[in-house]
Amino acid sequence: MPNNADNAAHTGRFAPSPSGDLHLGNLRTALLAWLFARSTGRRFVVRVEDLDRVRPGAQQRQLDDLAAIGLDWDGDVVHQSARLPLYDAAITRLHRAGLTYECFCTRKEILEAAAAPHAPAGAYPGTCRNLTPEERDERRAGGRPPAIRLRAGTDTFTVHDELHGHYTGTVDDLVLRRGDGIPAYNLAVVVDDAAQGIDQVVRGDDLLSSAPRQAYLAGLLDLPAPTYAHVPLALNSDGKRLAKRDGAVTLADQQALGRTPADVLSVLASSLGLAAEGETVTVEQLLDRWDPRTLPREPWIFPS
Ligand code: GLU
Repeated sequence: MPNNADNAAHTGRFAPSPSGDLHLGNLRTALLAWLFARSTGRRFVVRVEDLDRVRPGAQQRQLDDLAAIGLDWDGDVVHQSARLPLYDAAITRLHRAGLTYECFCTRKEILEAAAAPHAPAGAYPGTCRNLTPEERDERRAGGRPPAIRLRAGTDTFTVHDELHGHYTGTVDDLVLRRGDGIPAYNLAVVVDDAAQGIDQVVRGDDLLSSAPRQAYLAGLLDLPAPTYAHVPLALNSDGKRLAKRDGAVTLADQQALGRTPADVLSVLASSLGLAAEGETVTVEQLLDRWDPRTLPREPWIFPS
């Protein structure tokens, strides 16, 4: 029988975008997602978020790197690019419920409008929400294909996060389908998490502010919202998000310096307080030692 990840209950996940190699901060987040899932008896799945920004070969290297540090996952890896009908169905459902509208704004127009006083930070200001049919026809005639936005019925929503407690964040008329036809990240994540039985989302805390939008959208689609744990990111010594230019940041970079995947796992484990510096460990040992209450709440400053 094919081992299908869909429709399973109690599942955690790691959902990388194959836009390049994973850096050690990403591997640390993956390790945390695995520990959160496995320590709670959950299945663990990998979903490749390949609707956008795909770099040839990156996907396989990402999977190889996850396996090299000892992580395993259940069922086949799921690719978002193979699931377009699911996203279409969700958008159609929202459309039929009167919860969508076409947006003709350019990025520049949105930035300008969002800079207006009283506009909630980072929120779409609703420029195209109430266009008259004439105005809409006029914009359509401009020839630029519109994005499809959600007609949100609230401007905030509260989620529960295992590390951040109750977190209230902005909900705006988020994009469901981009002007180029690609389903938007928020929509795809919500549809997939529910379809895959994912009830625990562990990811970097740069995505904490997306969680209220996603949980609200899940509710509109009658889908359960998962529990969340947004974990601290890896930063460089300047306090900026870790990036390629920050030195030997990938497993391949580390291997070029003579460090094995086991050495890298050891570094990740000690950064999480789960191993002594230089101690060789396996992920199973880390699972035995794992206690989410002891997870460092500060960003990990990558040792350059
Ligand atoms: N694919 C997203 C990323 O790599 C993560 C999405 C998610 O975990 O919800 O940043």
